[in-house]
Amino acid sequence: MIEYESLARLNAPFFEEYSKNFDKVLKSGWYILGTSVKQFEEEFAAYNKAAHCIGLASGLDAITLSIGAFNFEKGSEIIVPSNTYIATILSVMQNNMKPVLVEPDIHTYNIDPAKIEAAITSKTKAIVVVHLYGKACDMDPIIALCKKYNLKLIEDCAQSHGATYKGKFTGTFGEFGAFSFYPTKNLGALGDAGAVVCNDASLDKIIRRLRNYGSDVKYYNEVVGYNSRLDEVQAAFLSVKLKRLDDINAHKRSLAALYLKGLKSDFIKPVVHVDYFDVYHIFNIRHQKRDTLKEYLLKNDIKTEIHYPVSPSKQKALQGMLDKYDFPISEEIHRTTLSLPISFFHTADDVNKVIEVMNKF
Ligand SMILES: *Cc1c(COP(=O)(O)O)cnc(C)c1O
Repeated sequence: MIEYESLARLNAPFFEEYSKNFDKVLKSGWYILGTSVKQFEEEFAAYNKAAHCIGLASGLDAITLSIGAFNFEKGSEIIVPSNTYIATILSVMQNNMKPVLVEPDIHTYNIDPAKIEAAITSKTKAIVVVHLYGKACDMDPIIALCKKYNLKLIEDCAQSHGATYKGKFTGTFGEFGAFSFYPTKNLGALGDAGAVVCNDASLDKIIRRLRNYGSDVKYYNEVVGYNSRLDEVQAAFLSVKLKRLDDINAHKRSLAALYLKGLKSDFIKPVVHVDYFDVYHIFNIRHQKRDTLKEYLLKNDIKTEIHYPVSPSKQKALQGMLDKYDFPISEEIHRTTLSLPISFFHTADDVNKVIEVMNKF
């Protein structure tokens, strides 16, 4: 059986160093906001060539606090892609703002810059782009729109650790880059964890305050904050994994190269362009008979996933909350997309086997 993912196998190369770092935290007796979090924040900021990094409890919180940092009035509109993972949209709603969904490009699966302008109104305050599957969005036209309409730019980088656009890391184009370190992500912890990166010292200060009950000084609360701190143990694990992030991404890219070359053209494959360094958090293909294909692969001992089976506008949770429910491009992606095995533990042999079986479909 070729698994889609196995967190035990993915993490096995790091077990020894994890244990060492866990032991250090355990014996230090300091478990919240200590030296491990500070160290990881410095390392992750440096990795991304960002000035600041603030460790948080999850990726959802990273987006939520990023939006919350600007204190937009209630009911402000925030533009998000219509085919994102639900977290991006929930972050907008948890700030009492209105998500305005914009369709993706059918080739890149990322928000279509040409469709954004029509969605901008006098109430629009920000765009949250999502670098889906580990491919950066087309940032130049998006940045131009943010300048033209004076909008804040937040990047959901939950799937794009280490991905670049024209040589610059995702997460560093806008005011905030919001990261998740959920265990399956390219940089995954051993539990929930997240962070934001930013280049502005005053924004850094606001996020630090928000994550810690709105407090700069213990027991003095400046604003209505959250408890959303990255904890010491997860930070200590993340420092181990961060050192290997480039290896993880290089491995996933080498497996993706095999798929791109080997899969027959019946399958719609991800696009590749020199301006983009893709990290393939997910390697998806599209096919009109996606469900039959998934079953066929399972019968041949190959497990796959669907990211995502239901488009956000069709989720029960969002009924009555949006202005519009008609997103044909998203629907087409959700109906036809299939994610193939591409974990750090998969070998070229695994992927060649998948290719061989798929090409007989
Ligand atoms: C994983 C993910 C999130 C949420 O991250 P959590 O750490 O699970 O809260 C947000 N956006 C996208 C695109 C994701 O893939």
